[in-house]
Amino acid sequence: MDSHSPTLLKVENLSKKFLVKKSLFKKEYFKAVDNVSFSIEHNHVLGIVGESGSGKSTIGRLVLKLIEKDEGKIYFEGKDVYKFSAEEEKLFRKETSVVFQDPRTSLNPRFKVFQIVEEPLIVHGFNKKEREKKVVEAVEDAGLDSSFLDRYPSDLSGGQRQRVAIARAVVLKPKLIIADEPTSALDVSVQLQIINLIKRLKKEKGISFLFISHDLNVVGMLSDRILVLYRGKVMEKGDARSILKNPLHPYTKILLESLPPDHPKRRKNLSSIPEIYREEIKGSCVFYSRCPKATEECKKEPAYRITDSREVYCHFV
Ligand code: ADP
Ligand code: MG
Repeated sequence: MDSHSPTLLKVENLSKKFLVKKSLFKKEYFKAVDNVSFSIEHNHVLGIVGESGSGKSTIGRLVLKLIEKDEGKIYFEGKDVYKFSAEEEKLFRKETSVVFQDPRTSLNPRFKVFQIVEEPLIVHGFNKKEREKKVVEAVEDAGLDSSFLDRYPSDLSGGQRQRVAIARAVVLKPKLIIADEPTSALDVSVQLQIINLIKRLKKEKGISFLFISHDLNVVGMLSDRILVLYRGKVMEKGDARSILKNPLHPYTKILLESLPPDHPKRRKNLSSIPEIYREEIKGSCVFYSRCPKATEECKKEPAYRITDSREVYCHFV
């Protein structure tokens, strides 16, 4: 990619809240995504990591325009995705795709593998001959041979089904794939195969990924950059290797500490950390109640600190 081509995906100050309670006099909202910014370059993987409910999938859905944003801007190759012409919208749909956690529910059980992978090609108007060629290519790119084309999802293992979902996601030769916990429903050995497949698709096809997972171990294996999310807010983001080597935010440190005991990146000398430290305070740092390091100062929200190409939401960095 030449250095003048614009950043593949740029997200600025994205926010989304959901209505949780509605009565005659009162509406209550829940901030699922709170002022999140990031970008993804061509041929790069950004890993978003955070516990369940932290807003990861909501970010993925916002980027794909499956749900409406409240605030913020999203640019795809320099173009505002909310100001697309019909033509640009169609191209965006072709150049982005998604892989979900559970291929059992994301693949149509009544379709054979061929039809599942073929469907996006029909939507985008490819003729029968082109479709046949592209389906076979995509299935092979996903590490399956053509003997799978005639089978139904129910005939396949979890890993094979996820490969079919990936074949479908790559068949239009996208520039960006949103992979939302694609390995979380799989056994560890199969997880590794899928991670390696994603790495290969990045390397050989130049595809970028927004890779979402609750597991920092998995995210660390394939991401160029990492964004750590907590309650819809960015806690820390930056170069993956530097975050894994030297996490700056207390929450990132906790995530690293919870890696498996034999993991080389696991932090050794941290004491174990209880779930909750102190009562919530309105207007505090969002991590206040769980932070092992919190002081009086943390009753106020921190500003983002930018250090050495890292951005950290903490008073003490
Ligand atoms: P994650 O993917 O990190 O587990 P999600 O993005 O799915 O988190 O959800 C973030 C928060 O937003 C959760 O508390 C979830 O319950 C809430 N949420 C997500 N979608 C909706 C919705 N359509 N309506 C109401 N609340 C939602
Ligand atoms: Mg999710």
